[in-house]
Amino acid sequence: PPYADYIRDRIRTVPDWPQAGVQFRDITPLLQDKKTFRVLVDIFVHRYMDLDLDIVAGVDARGFILGAVVAYELNLGFVPVRKKGKLPFLTVAEEYELEYGSATVEIHTDACKRGDRVLLIDDLVATGGTMVAAAKLLNRLGATIVEAAAIVDLPELGGSKIVREQGITLFTVCD
Ligand code: IMP
Repeated sequence: PPYADYIRDRIRTVPDWPQAGVQFRDITPLLQDKKTFRVLVDIFVHRYMDLDLDIVAGVDARGFILGAVVAYELNLGFVPVRKKGKLPFLTVAEEYELEYGSATVEIHTDACKRGDRVLLIDDLVATGGTMVAAAKLLNRLGATIVEAAAIVDLPELGGSKIVREQGITLFTVCD
């Protein structure tokens, strides 16, 4: 997108966090700046406003920030995909592999209905495991994922390729 450089310039790379060797992409400056935050939200709103969506699903935790604002602007509801053990009602869960160990994401069973057209939002795609697991949850509820979207792709980690190989359409603003 035309604003990719503008958005990328407000993402901070923090070396060796949370552990040695990791270059952590920190989106907090992007959210803090009123202009970049607005440009960012508007990229998503313009992209999805005519796609006849039913609901926006956001991934714990930074996917909540962007997802909720985009949902509000699209006049849609928002549902959270959460880390294990946070949702109080009936849930479905997907476990996925991390570099060391595994993680689990969950969604409420009534978060969307069969046939719902869903926009799935997270902040970043690294190995792709989180996005694929979140997509599987939505698929298990019978939803159609119109698109999965994130602010940042780390293409060298191969995650965006893996997401697309699962048949999921993926949009990212910058890498
Ligand atoms: P993946 O499952 O390996 O694709 O990792 C993506 C998930 O981990 C997303 O929910 C991100 O919020 C988080 N994540 C991984 N690496 C980073 C990073 O460098 N910055 C911000 N979030 C990250």
